[in-house]
Amino acid sequence: MNQTRHNWTKEEILAIYNKPLMELLYEAATVHRQFHDPNTVQVSTLLSIKTGGCPEDCGYCPQAARYHTHIEGNDLMSVQQVKAQALRAKSSGSSRVCMGAAWRNVKDGPEFDQVLEMVRTINKLDMEVCCTLGMVTENQAKRLAEAGLYAYNHNLDTSEEYYKEVISTRGYEDRLQTIENVRKTNVTVCSGGIIGMGENVEDRAGMLVALSTLNPQPESVPINALVAVEGTPMEDEKPVEIWEMIRMVATTRIVMPQTQVRLSAGRTEMTREGQAMCFFAGANSIFAGDKLLTTPNPDVNEDMEMFKQLGLTPQKPFIKISQPQTVEAADSQYASLGEKPKWSRPGHAIDRNEAAKEKGKVVSKS
Ligand code: SF4
Repeated sequence: MNQTRHNWTKEEILAIYNKPLMELLYEAATVHRQFHDPNTVQVSTLLSIKTGGCPEDCGYCPQAARYHTHIEGNDLMSVQQVKAQALRAKSSGSSRVCMGAAWRNVKDGPEFDQVLEMVRTINKLDMEVCCTLGMVTENQAKRLAEAGLYAYNHNLDTSEEYYKEVISTRGYEDRLQTIENVRKTNVTVCSGGIIGMGENVEDRAGMLVALSTLNPQPESVPINALVAVEGTPMEDEKPVEIWEMIRMVATTRIVMPQTQVRLSAGRTEMTREGQAMCFFAGANSIFAGDKLLTTPNPDVNEDMEMFKQLGLTPQKPFIKISQPQTVEAADSQYASLGEKPKWSRPGHAIDRNEAAKEKGKVVSKS
């Protein structure tokens, strides 16, 4: 049986990525069957609990305040609103709710307390709860764990080398530090990236080196294809070809055999046949719901029809790891520390991000 390795090199990963396609597919599908039921796919629903107005400059993101996009920002949702959406997601087959907030990092205070209450509420609905809230400290990760969080998402996005071409407001080491903080709890790690941002194949392999050499490897790895949104610095990037997506999924499956590989952004551009090949190559998770934070996603009914056609079944919650216990706020053993961690601000500007910012200013004046 293929064992999980934590010492993959870029050369080895590139050699896998570039194999003749039929060989790559066969190898990935074989590994997939050793570790997973090939007919089961985990379904997650992504919920934007706080949209837009983010101070970061991620070049792909329409929620960054500095770019001029169509996104309308909104304040943090209420616990009741989140509960209603979670119940809807559950009734349409989702086992996990992933709550995203457009924050640079979590700040202790009433808004974080409200998120902790959302985590408690969803865990009590017997659904897996995931959060993606930006950078977190160890104490914040422990408070999330205590509330019943199942997974924390924090994507590496790309290779360490290419990261500087995408984001200038924080460093790669900040991402790794947050993952390390989450690893000090029982919360599982979800971390992946985006292809189609102008990176080369070496960068894709570099990202897989960074993820696969984590020990333990992330329990889930989302693979996104860039959705080029007008107004962002990446608005002109050409769409990712399905073959690139299939190769990326298959390579991820081979180097991280136990992880759930998730088809994430960019699925609307994929045909059903293309998605079927990704499932064959080892993808076993999708995001459901007509929106992924702010970009379009296939309709839930369409997904369920595809599942029926392919003979796929949605995965039940807590199959891999048992359900965490929820500790009520009054019984918490962790106090809010009011921390102000020194996350880096590398201080370099990326030309195309600056250009998009300037263009945004002109559009909003006119
Ligand atoms: S990806 Fe996240 S951190 Fe980056 S700009 Fe968008 S919301 Fe902010």
